[in-house]
Amino acid sequence: MKILVVGSGGREHALAWKLAQSERAQTIFVAPGNGGTELNKNLKNINITDPHALAEFAIQEHIGLTVVGPEVPLAAGIVNIFREKGLKIFGPTKEAAQLESSKDFAKAFMHRHHIPTAEYQTFSDLQAAHDYLNKKGAPIVIKADGLAAGKGVVVAMTADEAHAAVDMMLSDNKLGDAGARVVIEEFLAGEEASFIVMVDGKNILPLATSQDHKRLLDHDQGPNTGGMGAYSPAPIVTPQLHARVMREIIQPTVQGMAKDGIVFTGFLYAGLMIDEAGNPKTLEFNCRMGDPETQPIMSRLKTDFISVMEHAVNGTLDTVELEWDRRTAMGVVMAAAGYPDAPEKGADITGIPAETADCITFHAGTALAGGKLSVTGGRVLCVVGLGDTVKTAQKHAYDVVEKIQFKGAQYRKDIGWRALNRKH
Ligand code: AMP
Repeated sequence: MKILVVGSGGREHALAWKLAQSERAQTIFVAPGNGGTELNKNLKNINITDPHALAEFAIQEHIGLTVVGPEVPLAAGIVNIFREKGLKIFGPTKEAAQLESSKDFAKAFMHRHHIPTAEYQTFSDLQAAHDYLNKKGAPIVIKADGLAAGKGVVVAMTADEAHAAVDMMLSDNKLGDAGARVVIEEFLAGEEASFIVMVDGKNILPLATSQDHKRLLDHDQGPNTGGMGAYSPAPIVTPQLHARVMREIIQPTVQGMAKDGIVFTGFLYAGLMIDEAGNPKTLEFNCRMGDPETQPIMSRLKTDFISVMEHAVNGTLDTVELEWDRRTAMGVVMAAAGYPDAPEKGADITGIPAETADCITFHAGTALAGGKLSVTGGRVLCVVGLGDTVKTAQKHAYDVVEKIQFKGAQYRKDIGWRALNRKH
């Protein structure tokens, strides 16, 4: 089968890498892909990003299945466009993708369907937002309603920060239309986990659990990023908590969407906050796999992924049982100098070793030209180590990270610290 993977990040490299392992894989196109997908002889980069042009390409090339990585084409309706042309694609429609593309939609939805989440109110009026902040005090969280590439959430620990965030979005329009409405919500304390499932419209298939590291620096310091590393499984998600999240969050979400007349298909990602007593609440929904969570999750998946995807688009996920590598997979992100504010492009990358049974290097912001790899974006690589324990997985990842060189490379030295502490 010919397959099309849409996107250019580490998540898409990992999805394409996994799909290419299937005996049924013919050509796997990645649009537009990166230096890593170009280096892999089983994958083929194509330089198309417009959803209509991609649908034309899929028709001409007789693509059997398309998988979408990022949120932007989903929110733009790529699934609607492909389906109108009779093409098979896995992802949510534009309407269903509102669970991610509008925080206000997601909060109102959760409220309506009694899905546990933080208390909130939505504002487009500047003064009303400031008045609400004065009433509530800090800590408090301010979220741009629309997609803002990870820059739309401010966790304000002081009232000053909270007022400044509201001004930044509603008055200075720093986030454009995405920030023209803001959700202000209660601050939740606890530990985060990523809970990702596949949904075929009615059946739900949970993937392995994972946990990512949002802050730039060790000990969870510094600014929020797209994610500096992730591991799977996440020991905080015990079988009991897993059952509870399915019952209280995931199932009511899929059923609630159907009740509201919007059938959900695609990856559904609930970002969870688990409080000290072990109660989960939903911080956000994403309508796609996480990046970097995908890299360790795909590294552990043993089941033929093309067949899983086929069941997903044919509505038969209830017949699938996934098999996972029992080892821990630990992904460490290497980012460009200046990331996240002003990533520097152009540095040469050297020292990436060949894939082994213990370690795989997924690319994100890289390009290949004249046989040389160079940096093209913020997050550059994600090195995934696998090991029987969290510690060995971590060692396998960092042994390789230390061999890879590019000018100004930034990475955290403590990815996996929560899992390590827990095991002890
Ligand atoms: P979101 O995109 O909504 O998941 O927010 C991004 C990050 O902001 C989350 O991963 C959390 O670290 C933090 N965050 C979001 N909402 C809250 C909240 N209500 N309380 C505390 N932290 C939050």
